[in-house]
Amino acid sequence: MTQNYDLITIGGGSGGVAASNRAATYGARCLLIEKDRLGGTCVNVGCVPKKVMWNGAQIAHALEDAADYGFTVERKHFDWAKLKAERDGHAQELNGHYARYLASNKVEVIRGAARFTGPRTVEVNGTRHTGRHVLIATGGHPVVPNVPGAELGITSDGFFELEALPRKVAIVGAGYIAAELSGVLHALGSEVTLILRREQLVMSFDPMLRENLMEHMRADNIEFVTNSQVSALRRESDGTLSVVCDGGTRVGGFDTVIWAIGRTPNTRDLDLNATGLACDQLGFVTTDEFQETGIEGIHAVGDVTGRIALTPVAVAAGRRLSDRLFGGMAGRKLSYENVATVMFSHPPVGTVGLSEPQAVLQYGAQAVQVYQAKFTPMLHAFTRRKVKVAMKLVVAGPEERVVGCHVIGPGADEMLQGFAVAVQMGATKRDFDDTVAIHPTVAEELVTLRTARPAAM
Ligand code: FAD
Ligand code: NDP
Repeated sequence: MTQNYDLITIGGGSGGVAASNRAATYGARCLLIEKDRLGGTCVNVGCVPKKVMWNGAQIAHALEDAADYGFTVERKHFDWAKLKAERDGHAQELNGHYARYLASNKVEVIRGAARFTGPRTVEVNGTRHTGRHVLIATGGHPVVPNVPGAELGITSDGFFELEALPRKVAIVGAGYIAAELSGVLHALGSEVTLILRREQLVMSFDPMLRENLMEHMRADNIEFVTNSQVSALRRESDGTLSVVCDGGTRVGGFDTVIWAIGRTPNTRDLDLNATGLACDQLGFVTTDEFQETGIEGIHAVGDVTGRIALTPVAVAAGRRLSDRLFGGMAGRKLSYENVATVMFSHPPVGTVGLSEPQAVLQYGAQAVQVYQAKFTPMLHAFTRRKVKVAMKLVVAGPEERVVGCHVIGPGADEMLQGFAVAVQMGATKRDFDDTVAIHPTVAEELVTLRTARPAAM
C-alpha cells in the first residue's frame, strides 16, 4: 500500500538527516530512505574517520617534538589496527546516535536503495511512497579514472578499509583528499609520493596557502611528481605497483596507490527521467538559490548539487529548506558566500572569503590591499622540527573591508571559525585593529598585522 508523506528524503547523510529532523520538528510527516549506513560520507568515509586519523598524525608529530620539550619518549610502535578499531567504533556510535535522533523526532527510516517511479513517487524495496515534497540528498562517490590498471588503486573509501599502514604510497590528485591523506600517511610512517597533473596542490586556494603547504610537505620528504597525467597502473613481477604517466614518466615500488581526483554525484540509479528532471553534464542535480530543481516539489541539497561539497553546507542547506517548506520562514535560504573551510593537511589550512586573485578579479587590483605575515610560532621556537605559520588578510575598498582571511600553520583549523563570523559580518581592517589581541597565541597576529602591500596583478 502506498504511504503518503509531507517529505520523502533520499539519502541519510549530512544534508538528508538534517533536513528530515528539522522538518519533523515542525510536525511534518517524514520518511528518510538510506541504502547504506546512516550519517553518509561524513560519518562513515569522510570527515569523522579522516579527523580521527589526522588526530593520530598530530600525536605522532607531538611525539617527535617531545624530546625538545624535555621528555624522554621513544616511539616504539604504532598500532594501525588499534586506531582503526577505535575509529570504526566511534563511527558506529554515531550511526546509532543518528538512528536514535531520527526516531526521537518520529522520522520514519527505511533501509534500501530508492528510485523515482513518478514525479513525487519513490520506490524502495518494492513499495511505492508518495510525498508532497521529495528531497534528493544522495551525495557522491570517488572518481576512478578510465585508465588501464585503475582497479589496482583504491580511493578514500578504500583508505578507510586498510588493515595496516602502507609502506610506500602514491596518491594521485591535487585536492583536499590528496593533501589530507598524504599528511596523515606520512606522519604515521608511510613513504608518500604525490602525483599532480599540474604544478601545485589545491589550485582554488590562495597562492600563499598552496606555496607554503608544498614547502612544508617537501620539507617533510613527501615526494612530488608534478605536471604528470597518469595513464596506467601496473603490477610488477615483485608485486609492487608502478604509476605510468603520459610522456613516459614512471614511478614505482608502491604497495598502495590512492585515487584522489574528485567525486561524482549519486544520481545514476535514481531513475530521474521518471520525474522529468535532467542532470547537468557531470550528473549533478542543479538547483536555484532555494534548492529548487525546477520540478515542483523536488528539491536537492548537498554534494549531489555540485555546490560547495562540505558537511556544514549540506546541513545548513537542508535545515533552511525545511525551515522554508514547513517552518513558515518564507525566503529562508543558504548563502553560499563566505563559507569557511579547513583542510586538515599537515600543517592545517583555514580559509574564508576571496583569495588574492579572486579579490582582484572582483574589485580590480587598485582596490585591493594585502596584509601578510610569516613566522615561526612559539610551539616550534626551539624544536628541531620547524613548522611555520603564514597568514594573509585581503582587504577591499577605501574602508578596507576584509574580504579574505587565509591561514596555514598549527592552530589554523580552530582559528578560522571566529574570523569567519567577522568576515561574514563585513568587518573592516580597522575592526580587526580595534580588537585587543589574545596573547600569546598564533591568532593574535591576525589582529596586529600592520603593513599593507598592493595586490598582485
Ligand atoms: P552524503 O553524506 O554523501 O550522503 C548521501 C547518502 O545518500 C549516503 O549515505 C548514500 O548511501 C545515500 N544514497 C545514495 N543514493 C541512494 C539511494 N538511491 N537510495 C538511498 N540512499 C542513497 N566535509 C567537511 O565539511 N569537513 C571535512 O573534514 C570533510 N572531510 C571529508 C573527507 C573525505 C575523505 C570525504 C570523501 C569527504 C569529506 N568531506 C568533508 C565532505 C563531506 O563528507 C560531504 O560534503 C558531505 O558528507 C555531503 O553530505 P550529503 O548529505 O550531500 O551526502
Ligand atoms: P577536489 O575536488 O578537492 O580535488 C580533486 C583534484 O583532483 C583536483 O585538484 C584536480 O586537480 C585533480 N584531478 C581531477 N581529475 C584528475 C585526473 N584525471 N588526474 C589527476 N588529477 C585529477 O576533490 P577531492 O576528491 O580531494 O575532495 C572532494 C571534495 O570533498 C572536496 O572538494 C571538498 O569539498 C570535500 N572535502 C572536504 C574536506 C574538508 O573539508 N577538510 C576534506 C576532504 C574532502 P587540478 O587542480 O589539476 O584540477
